[in-house]
Amino acid sequence: MNHPRPLDLAQRDLAYIVHPYTNFKTNEANGPFIIDRGEGIYVYDADGRRYLEGMAGLWSASLGFSEPRLAEAAAKQFARLPYSQIFGGRSHEPGIQLAEELAKITPDGLNHVLFANSGSEANDAACKIVWYYNNQIGRKAKKKLVGRYFGYHGITVASGSLTGLAPVHADFDLPLDRMVHTDAPSYYHFGKADETTEQFVARLGASLEELIQREGPENIGAFIAEPVMGAGGVIVPPPGYFECIQPILKKHDILFIVDEVITGFARTGELFASYTYNLKPDMMTMAKALSSSYLPISALMMTDKIYQAVSDGSAKNGAFAHGVTYAAHPVCAAVALETLAIYKERNIVDHVKKVAPRLQSGLGALQNHPLVGESRGVGLIGAVELTRSKKEKTAFDSKLGLGAYVQSRAAHHGVILRNVKDAIAVCPPLIITEAEIEELLQGLHRALDDGLDHARKQGWV
Ligand code: PLP
Repeated sequence: MNHPRPLDLAQRDLAYIVHPYTNFKTNEANGPFIIDRGEGIYVYDADGRRYLEGMAGLWSASLGFSEPRLAEAAAKQFARLPYSQIFGGRSHEPGIQLAEELAKITPDGLNHVLFANSGSEANDAACKIVWYYNNQIGRKAKKKLVGRYFGYHGITVASGSLTGLAPVHADFDLPLDRMVHTDAPSYYHFGKADETTEQFVARLGASLEELIQREGPENIGAFIAEPVMGAGGVIVPPPGYFECIQPILKKHDILFIVDEVITGFARTGELFASYTYNLKPDMMTMAKALSSSYLPISALMMTDKIYQAVSDGSAKNGAFAHGVTYAAHPVCAAVALETLAIYKERNIVDHVKKVAPRLQSGLGALQNHPLVGESRGVGLIGAVELTRSKKEKTAFDSKLGLGAYVQSRAAHHGVILRNVKDAIAVCPPLIITEAEIEELLQGLHRALDDGLDHARKQGWV
């Protein structure tokens, strides 16, 4: 495309970039939000304004935006071997070391790693492995996958299908027929007035059992869950939820895929949320904080049992005909290894345990704000749910755009937060200090006050 006059950065963006998860019309009207550089947990826009990055990018930049050791690890590996591949049995040391380290730190039995570039790909691969595995062990019908409403697992055809959010399906002709969905464990949204959380959990268990019977246990290969749902509005499972779900899966020989793409690497206050919630995954996916998001890398971990069946399949078929060009990319692997080393040296789990109570108590205090129906969270992830009536728990019409307004006011006050569904999410870099958490909470509080003023002026409350 040729332009008569040179365009500025924003105009060039609008002219050329197709933005993920963006309303193009609104973006054209408002212009893009261009970030220029980062320092610690802060980023600076193109005009030099500083923002506390309260979402760590996309729930991901765990070590903030200026960790020199990650840049050095990348530079070192670039100089030594900038690219190599692992098809056909070829290998390299950063990939081997990373796989070994992941096998050490993940729950027992997850000893084999399939690398890719993104969380979506890792979850997509998990679906394919369920099918491949069941074909090897002669269970040709056991192919359906169960996701959950509000769950988010990515955007590929399979991971998008497992996702339980309507916009991810709309007009993309998803979900695939093999994917079915069960309830979101959100007591706030779906608990009945006279129901305790125990009764709610039991009802969800019964509903999953019902779905399994309806579809036929012999047809269901796997169940996938984020331990804490992120994009669905930061849904923290009620006590007893996974204790109720896991035995049902076991009883019907349904594989349990745990999506730790957000929760992995200390986010919930343990190295993996599988430890927080005592999960026993057959497969686990991770990405984002695996490399502090400095470079794209994801991993799918699988048990010995699954690996053995896949291995048999590779012999039968002549090869395991799956893999991507950048699997275990040596520079990404080197950066991931350095990230894991930093987590260990700086006791990131202990740090999260130490500072998280400040975030959670601050979010808890916002429960009294007139606009907040519920505040929730665990570790260094949380959200406040916007409501027009605390008693009725009614959401604002999404067309009013109140969540987006609160998000934009937070940015105005120097804090980047994210509106997901009817909630305002927070998920800062794990290196955040208590003083910085205070600053984040103040920005959120001021943005909620602005939202309330706006809603009152518009006559929405
Ligand atoms: N799974 C979860 C829980 C996620 O939050 C995301 C992305 O936010 C994904 C999977 C997809 O990861 P990616 O965007 O790297 O494909």
